Amino acid sequence: MKTINVTIEIPKKTNVKYEYDRKTKEVCVDRILFGTNVYPQNYGFIKEALDYDGDELDCLVIADQSFSCGIKVPTRILGAMEMIDDGETDTKLIGVIDCDPRYASYKTLNDVPDHCLKEIKDFFQNYKNLQNKKVIVKDFKSTKWAEKEYDTCVKLMKKYGSLEKDEFIAKMHKLHPEKYC
Ligand SMILES: [Mg+2]
Repeated sequence: MKTINVTIEIPKKTNVKYEYDRKTKEVCVDRILFGTNVYPQNYGFIKEALDYDGDELDCLVIADQSFSCGIKVPTRILGAMEMIDDGETDTKLIGVIDCDPRYASYKTLNDVPDHCLKEIKDFFQNYKNLQNKKVIVKDFKSTKWAEKEYDTCVKLMKKYGSLEKDEFIAKMHKLHPEKYC
């Protein structure tokens, strides 16, 4: 079981879409969510892993507390949710805070209350409704799948992390067309 550091972008139950810019190392307000939705859990990224959308691999961190933007939270990977956002693969790893004994028994997504997973799925299915952007939420995935995805994205960051985002996406379109639709 892998424990990684997730850098929080968006605190749980808030609606400001902060985004980290790897180049400038600054956090900007990208937008305020158009609808009334709030992030159901803390949401952040994994610095050392690059996803096919050209951004760091995303991760939800299940915890009771809401963490501030920029804070690193030790997170145990439980699984993932496959997602296509506006035509690009945009996987969400799902983890749990690793330094709260209340969550020590959480080892896989099966340990997460069903309704908590439903909230996560529902949020991403709907959070861009008023932007008229298409988000396809696929299945939840196992711990093993998520850890493999993490490893793949770490390799992508090592190899292509210095490329401009557009350049990286163009390259991935050629090498991995199945990741885009
Ligand atoms: Mg992403």
